[in-house]
Amino acid sequence: MTTDPFDVKRRVAEMEVQYIKGVGPKRSEALAEAGVKTALDLLYYFPRKYLDRSRILKIRDAHSALLLPDEVTFVGRIKSIYQSRKGARRFLFITLADETGTLRCVWFNGVQYFIRAFKEGEPVAFSGKVTPYQDRPCLIHPEYDHLEEESDEEFLHTGGIIPVYPLTEGLKQVGLDSRGFRKIMRNVVELAEDYGLPQDAMSKEILSVNSLMNLKEALKAIHFPENEQQLKLSLRRFKFEELFYLQLLLAIRRNAIRHASGISMRDSGELVRRLVNDLLPFKLTGSQKKVLNEILSDIRLAHPMHRLLQGDVGSGKTIVALITMLITVESGYQAAFMAPTEILAAQHFANIRQYLDLLGVQSAILVGGQKKSERGQIYHDIETGRASVVIGTHAIIQEGVKFSNLGLIVVDEQHRFGVVQRMALQEKGENPHLLVMTATPIPRTLSLTIYGDLDVSVIDEMPTGRKGIKTALRGESHRDKVYKFIREQVLAGRQVFIVYPLVNETEKSDLKAATQSFVNLRDETFRGFKVGLIHGQMTETEKNDVMAAFKKNAINILVATTVIEVGIDIPNATVMIIEHAERFGLSQLHQLRGRIGRGIHQSYCILMTDDKHLDEKKIQTREDAAAYQRLKLFTSTTDGFKIAEYDLMLRGPGEFFGTKQSGLPPLRLADLMKDRDIIVQARKSAFHVAEEDPHLRDSRHAGIREVLEKNYKESFEFLQAS
Ligand code: ADP
Ligand code: MG
Repeated sequence: MTTDPFDVKRRVAEMEVQYIKGVGPKRSEALAEAGVKTALDLLYYFPRKYLDRSRILKIRDAHSALLLPDEVTFVGRIKSIYQSRKGARRFLFITLADETGTLRCVWFNGVQYFIRAFKEGEPVAFSGKVTPYQDRPCLIHPEYDHLEEESDEEFLHTGGIIPVYPLTEGLKQVGLDSRGFRKIMRNVVELAEDYGLPQDAMSKEILSVNSLMNLKEALKAIHFPENEQQLKLSLRRFKFEELFYLQLLLAIRRNAIRHASGISMRDSGELVRRLVNDLLPFKLTGSQKKVLNEILSDIRLAHPMHRLLQGDVGSGKTIVALITMLITVESGYQAAFMAPTEILAAQHFANIRQYLDLLGVQSAILVGGQKKSERGQIYHDIETGRASVVIGTHAIIQEGVKFSNLGLIVVDEQHRFGVVQRMALQEKGENPHLLVMTATPIPRTLSLTIYGDLDVSVIDEMPTGRKGIKTALRGESHRDKVYKFIREQVLAGRQVFIVYPLVNETEKSDLKAATQSFVNLRDETFRGFKVGLIHGQMTETEKNDVMAAFKKNAINILVATTVIEVGIDIPNATVMIIEHAERFGLSQLHQLRGRIGRGIHQSYCILMTDDKHLDEKKIQTREDAAAYQRLKLFTSTTDGFKIAEYDLMLRGPGEFFGTKQSGLPPLRLADLMKDRDIIVQARKSAFHVAEEDPHLRDSRHAGIREVLEKNYKESFEFLQAS
C-alpha cells in the first residue's frame, strides 16, 4: 500500500464502477456500454436536464401552455391507466393528477412497453409540449421520470432541483433510470468526497481568471445542486472545461499552420492591373478591397493562409477569388477553384474564363460527368502545369489528380467544409494557401469554433447601384394577380424563377408535382412565353444547356427545384416565386432570394403559401405557427446575418452546420448559441496556454495534457500528426 495521497486519489478515480455501492457486475456492464467504466467516468456522467420549479406547471395552467414553443413539466401522481383499440391500433391513456386538476397523456406507439412502465398512484414528472388533442390540452408521448416517494416529491415541493440522466435501453433494463442513477451518484459523490479526486486539470490561474468553481465542488453540485446559483456555477465550469479543450485543439492546429512553411506570393502585377483597370465592367467596392488586402498580406508570407471569406449572397466574392488566383498565377503557381455543384462549376468557369482568355491565362474545368478521354487530357494539363487555373467540383481533389505546383485552393459556398476536409485538400500541394468562401453568414460563436482555426475576412458592403429586393407573402387567393405580375415583368424584358420545393431530389411525388406544374405553366398560364424546367434528376449536360439558355434570355420563365439554390448569377432575373414557401428553411429561402437582385432592375421575391400561413388567426398547429413566424421574419429583413442567427436558433448548430463533419469533438453541455461568453473566455485561456507552452510540457499543464491525450485522443493525435 502506498501512502502517496496523489496515488490514492488516482486509484479512486480509476476504480472500476462495479465496486461502487449499488452498481455490481450487471449494472457495470450496462454502464460500460454507455461509456462509463471508472468512478471518474461516472462522476462525469452528467444529468441531461434538471427538473426545477421554474419549469414546472400546475395542471390548471396547461391551457395557457398550449401555444408555447417550450417543453413544460407537470408533476403529480398517476390517477388512471387504460388502453383502447381502434382497428389494429392501440392507444394508451394515462391521467395525471395534481391538486389543481387532471391532465391526459397519450401514447400511440410502444403501448405494450409503456403500460408496464407505470403504476397507478405513483409520483411522476411528465415533460413535453402541450398539444391539443380531442379538444383538450394533452401531452403526446411525453418524456417521463419516475420520482421517489418521499425525497423527490419533497424536493419538488420545497423548491429543490432534481437531476435527470441520459438513459439508454440497456441502462433502463438494469434499473438505471434517473431514479436509479441518483442513488448510485450519491454513493460515488460520497466516495469522491471521502477520498478526494484527481488533481483539477484547470490550473489555479485559469480558475481564478475565469471565476470558475473548482472541480470538487463542481462535481458535487452538478449532480446534487442545493440551489439554482450553485447549479449555474457548476454548469459554467464544465461548459468552460469542454470549450477549453476544444479551443486548445484549435489553438494547436492554428499554431501548426502558422509555423508550417508555405509559398510566398508576389505582389499583384500586370494581370491584376489589367483585369481591374481594363476588363471589369465595375469598380471594386471598398469591402472587396479591404478583404483583398487581408488576403494579400497573408499570401505574401511564407506560411500557408487559412482564411474564411464571408460575404452575403451577391456581395461579389467571386471576383476576390479571381484576383487572388491571378496573383497566384503571376507568382508562378497553379490555382484551383472548387464549387459545390457541377452547374455552379460550369457557371464559374464560363464567367471566369472570359477574363482569363483575354489575359492569356490557361484554364480547365474538371467535373465528375466528363468523358474519360476528355478527362485524360485535363489531367495531363494539370499535371504538366499547362492549365494554370482549374475550376471544378470535388472531382478536383480526387486521387488521380496531380498538380504540377498548386499554390492556392479556393473553396466556394462550402459552409460544411470542416477541419478534416480542409486537411485532405492541403495534401494536393506543398501547403497551398486556402481560401474558403461562404455566403452563409456565420454567427460569431461558430466562427470561433467550427472555423476557430481560420482567419476570417468579411465583405460587409454590397456593390452599389442595386435596387434591393422587395419581398411579399401571398396566398392562393392572390395567384392570378401574381401570374399577371410575372407576365408584365417578362414583357418588360425581365426573367423569372419559379421554385418548387423538392426537399429530397429523389422524392418522386414532389418531382411529379413540379413537372406537372411546369407543363401547365408552359401550355396554359404562360402560353406564348418561353418556359424552361430544371431539376436534379436531369443529366449534367441537360442542366447546363438549360442554364445556358436562361443566361441568354432564351428562356423567360424557369421552373426549378432547389438545384438553383446556390451561387447562380443571372442579373437579368428579377422575379423569384417560391411555391409552398412554408416548406423551406430560412437559410434556404435566403439563398434562393439571393439569386435575384443582382442587376440594376428592381427585384421581387414572392413567397406563395397556403392562406392559413398568412393570418395569425388561422393558425391551427404548432407547425403552422412556426411557418408563420419564419415567413414573417423572412419578409421583414434581407439581412443574411439576422436570418442565419434565427435559423441557427431554430435548428441548432448540428443540423445547421453539420458539426459532426467538422472533425471536432462533440459538445455535451455547452451550447454554441447561448454560451457565447464562455466560448470567448475559454478561447482566450486556451490560446494563452498554447502560446505560452505549445507542447504542454510545463508541469502546470500536465493535467491538461493528460485529459487531451485521454479524452480527445483522436483529435489530438490527428492534429499532432498534421
Ligand atoms: P457572391 O458573393 O454571391 O458569390 P458574385 O461573386 O456572384 O456574388 O457577384 C454577384 C454579382 O455582382 C455578379 O454579377 C458580379 O459580377 C457582380 N459584382 C461583383 N462585384 C461588383 C462590384 N464591385 N460592383 C458591381 N457589381 C459587382
Ligand atoms: Mg458565389
